[in-house]
Amino acid sequence: MDDCLFCKIVAGEIPAEIVHATERTVAFRDINGQAPTHVLVVPRDHYANAAELAAGDPEASAEVVRTAAAVAAAEGHDDYRLVFNTGAGVGQSVFHAHLHLLAGRPMAWPPG
Ligand code: 5GP
Ligand code: ZN
Repeated sequence: MDDCLFCKIVAGEIPAEIVHATERTVAFRDINGQAPTHVLVVPRDHYANAAELAAGDPEASAEVVRTAAAVAAAEGHDDYRLVFNTGAGVGQSVFHAHLHLLAGRPMAWPPG
């Protein structure tokens, strides 16, 4: 995708603080972090959301979750929250699938 922010981060065309990378995924810090650890894990290939990723590349979908778990462990968190916003109505603003990893502070449930 020529005009996708996260494709450009994966390609190294836009800088990001990358904390982990695997064959199919890249993990980088959210530019507007909402917790001491707030990392976005994206598939290297472009899919608009988590469901399209899971349908199109199940192994990459699983690797996104494994990468998030590895980052949480590396940053010392046993407890963490994983979020896939899907659709503008619930806050998705970048339409390249990305898993939010949030950890390091108390979190309320249900979310706002
Ligand atoms: P969404 O709202 O789509 O679930 O999440 C998109 C996330 O991307 C937001 O939390 C936002 O702060 C983050 N973000 C937007 N632009 C950039 C950027 O250029 N670099 C990084 N590292 N994060 C970004
Ligand atoms: Zn993309």
